[in-house]
Amino acid sequence: MRIFFLGAAQTVTGSMFGLETKQGNLLVDCGMFQGRRQESRERNRHLPSWALDVDAVLLTHAHIDHSGNIPSLVRKGYKGPIYTTPATRDLCAFMLRDSGRIQEHDAKYLNRKFGNDPDWEPIEPIYKERDAVKALGQFVTYNYWQSFEPIPGVRVTFHDAGHVLGSASILIEAEGQRILFSGDIGRRHLPILRDPEIPAQVDFLIMESTYGNREHGPIESIHEELARIINEAVKRKGKVIIPSFALERTQEVVYALSELVKAGTIEPIPTYVDSPLAVNLTQVFRNHPECYDYETLEFLEGADPFGFESLRYVQSVQESMALNTTPGPLVIISASGMCEAGRIVHHLRNSIESHNNTVVIVGYQAQHTLGRRIAERRSQIKIFGVMRDLNAAVQVLDGFSAHAGRKALINYAKLAGPNIKKVFLVHGEIDSQKSLAEALTERKMSVEIPSRGQIIDL
Ligand SMILES: [Zn+2]
Repeated sequence: MRIFFLGAAQTVTGSMFGLETKQGNLLVDCGMFQGRRQESRERNRHLPSWALDVDAVLLTHAHIDHSGNIPSLVRKGYKGPIYTTPATRDLCAFMLRDSGRIQEHDAKYLNRKFGNDPDWEPIEPIYKERDAVKALGQFVTYNYWQSFEPIPGVRVTFHDAGHVLGSASILIEAEGQRILFSGDIGRRHLPILRDPEIPAQVDFLIMESTYGNREHGPIESIHEELARIINEAVKRKGKVIIPSFALERTQEVVYALSELVKAGTIEPIPTYVDSPLAVNLTQVFRNHPECYDYETLEFLEGADPFGFESLRYVQSVQESMALNTTPGPLVIISASGMCEAGRIVHHLRNSIESHNNTVVIVGYQAQHTLGRRIAERRSQIKIFGVMRDLNAAVQVLDGFSAHAGRKALINYAKLAGPNIKKVFLVHGEIDSQKSLAEALTERKMSVEIPSRGQIIDL
């Protein structure tokens, strides 16, 4: 048996692994690589040929860096099944089509921009919305703990990874070995979701290591801080702008606000979720209460977790634009999460110059993004090519992260098996991986940090 490390090796995106067994070959995740433009385009356009020929694809969760290249695989001729949980399938129904539309839009934009250059060769989108739709027809779903055999003699079970709705760690039993692909591992006590489950007696563990060298702010302080921010905004009649990823983070923020309103800690001020993708994904959350944790079900007593009296979901562009002139206090939650595109950019342009307003950063902001510059509280910020003063208050809440911190990762590896033969660290920057590898080695585990393209015999 061999493992192929095809992506998310010494980096955090482009998750893709292969498992070659005597009975057949499996691909675990087929994620999009997200980095510098040129490199990303090359890597996403040329999938490893090994991946095109597998017997089945297994998908851990809906994040684009895990699922985003499934439509390319199908476009290139993959006709087999794509196994995942029902919630992940339903999230992908929106996310992959949205991603297809973005690819089409980007290709059109670049061809128009450089079309007059005689050396320009028109580019094709990596895939189109119709490829995503075709791929969705190949999805086959299994609930958590419901084992199945994608290839005769190879057993697969999804375990709850507690990272985003529907997320799974994938346990594969083949040739007498138990191989666990952790996928992205969530944190304990995240809102809505159950805590990550850790399958035991594992022989080989392929584990994420995003936060291998650090911890996050405590989840418990999120409510307190949000309440303080909203109450101050009410006093100043200001706008609270929350850039948020459409998947999970938006629903968590809405759920936290709904708890605060119901507890009477904040006034029910007008709150808008202004992102068509987030609105659709929230509906998927409503459709999958089987993924909620006990506390959420208890708190709800049948009520809508993602709705309260003063909350509105905005679809149309007109309604979104009308928010520019709507007086505060109000809250706007909008995508994209790093403020690089989408409606959030318009809301920021419209709000950051006033001292009455607040921008709340609730997600990771990568280098060279508008969100990062705001989080760093630069005095001036360029939006749509124009420099503007950043006078609005900026609050950074880092308690929302959906990834397990260092201690939890160490614990995960420990619980996965006392007799673990090898831990492979993936999905992390190299510094983070080295630091975690050291900690695991100290605990007598054999650890490897594979590089991209490496093939290892088990
Ligand atoms: Zn993820």
